[in-house]
Amino acid sequence: MHDHAGHEGGACGADHAAATMARAEKLCRDRSLHFTKLRHDVLQAVAETGKPMGAYDIAERLSGPERRVAAVSVYRALDFLTENGLVHRIASRNAFVSCAHEHGAGEGLVFLICRSCGGIDETTSPEIEAGLGRTLERAGFRPASRILEVEGECGACHGRQGDDAH
Ligand SMILES: [Zn+2]
Ligand SMILES: [Zn+2]
Repeated sequence: MHDHAGHEGGACGADHAAATMARAEKLCRDRSLHFTKLRHDVLQAVAETGKPMGAYDIAERLSGPERRVAAVSVYRALDFLTENGLVHRIASRNAFVSCAHEHGAGEGLVFLICRSCGGIDETTSPEIEAGLGRTLERAGFRPASRILEVEGECGACHGRQGDDAH
């Protein structure tokens, strides 16, 4: 399902999900936060999918004949997970991806979003970070987040289509 083997930092599929859940459990223990069943399930759904998911998709996935999960509850769980750096919101998709990294405070992120396969690579760029820092300083702007999103075509999709695609 996942074609991103060649990508940097590509902790994918089951490994990624397991690493994400382990990190979440440790983080909640360390900070004395309640890792409720819903928070757990929401994070697991996002981590296992490995693609950006909207709150409604998550609610649907968690709902079954015996359990009805409302999108509003999912949003609350996502707020918690976002605040604690366990998921990131992809603004351009209004969707969420899980994160298995340890980020420093205020660390800038770059998301490379593939339009063909829907895959998202999360990376950091000290070069962009330094340049962005200078730009913000010049503008006297205090950022609430430092997340950049770049849409295009990932290396795997690009390679598959060859040079004469279009
Ligand atoms: Zn992250
Ligand atoms: Zn792709």
